[in-house]
Amino acid sequence: MSKVLVSGGCGFIGSHLCDRIMRRSDLELCIVVDNLWTGDVQNLAHIRDDRFRIVQSDVERFQTDLRFDEIYHLASPASPPWYMSEPIRTISANLIGAMRLLELLAPGGRFGFTSTSEIYGDPLVSPQPESYRGSVDCTGPRSSYDESKRCTESLLFETRRTKGIDLRVVRLFNVYGPRTRPDDGRAVSNFIMQALSGQPLTVYGSGEQSRSWGYVEDIVDGLERYFWSDPVNYPGPLNIGNDREIPVIEVARYISKMFGNLPIHHVDPAPQDPTNRRPDLNLARRTLPGWKCKVPYEKGVQLTVDWFRAHLAQQYQDQLTLI
Ligand code: UDP
Repeated sequence: MSKVLVSGGCGFIGSHLCDRIMRRSDLELCIVVDNLWTGDVQNLAHIRDDRFRIVQSDVERFQTDLRFDEIYHLASPASPPWYMSEPIRTISANLIGAMRLLELLAPGGRFGFTSTSEIYGDPLVSPQPESYRGSVDCTGPRSSYDESKRCTESLLFETRRTKGIDLRVVRLFNVYGPRTRPDDGRAVSNFIMQALSGQPLTVYGSGEQSRSWGYVEDIVDGLERYFWSDPVNYPGPLNIGNDREIPVIEVARYISKMFGNLPIHHVDPAPQDPTNRRPDLNLARRTLPGWKCKVPYEKGVQLTVDWFRAHLAQQYQDQLTLI
């Protein structure tokens, strides 16, 4: 029976991962550690299970006498406006958070870490294989996120080399879907929130910059298989994402059309915005045979719109009840 810790479990991806963990019959205990900086307990309110606990704490300062068989470290903002507004806290959550969690790993335990395609910076090769060393500005506006993810990868691989932990590192590519915060600030959720309130969609710069948008259920399928359900013997790093690359302007046009051709406003480009990003999935296909992103962008956006509508209606209802 396994004791599992998930840092950042109240967040967008973390909460979907917790849903998968709670289906396990070999689970003794699942503890979520989350300071609710970008996470929301409502994302886990549906879980009613004696094996499940949420502790509100910074991961760096989490105190317990327990030791865990599996630790999944997701605690970090992932949206540029959020990590840029509190860069030191972002570095701390990733790096110092990982250092603290390593102290809580039981002997022989497994450590999973969600790193990022931001590791590749503004990539000069496409698609990006895991062997690509990236093009990151280590003092630039995105560095708190990019470099703390990179340094946490170093910490984990060196810990594995010197102490022999069972390591699983993934690099995620632009995940979107239900449970994104309405004020998250990333492209898909911004466009949807703007569209739902009849506002123009804001495209940063020309919109020719591209991303590979992965629907959260597909991504979490990959995480579930890699982190615990498949007999994998590979520490990572492993790209997990959708390899269909689409320019931002196309996404904006698609959502604009869904809502009756809302205007699209081009505003200032985001600082050091990567021009392109697409995962090379050869290693993922070999490591997780048969896994692939199944939800096409068009359907994923529709599912996300449906979720936002229901979520906002519920929030409105809750406010009315309070009055
Ligand atoms: N973007 C945009 N409008 C928005 C939010 C984002 O045009 O309201 C662009 C952003 O400049 C980037 C792309 O969409 O080129 C993806 O941005 P996001 O913040 O979703 O992810 P990341 O920059 O981390 O890839």
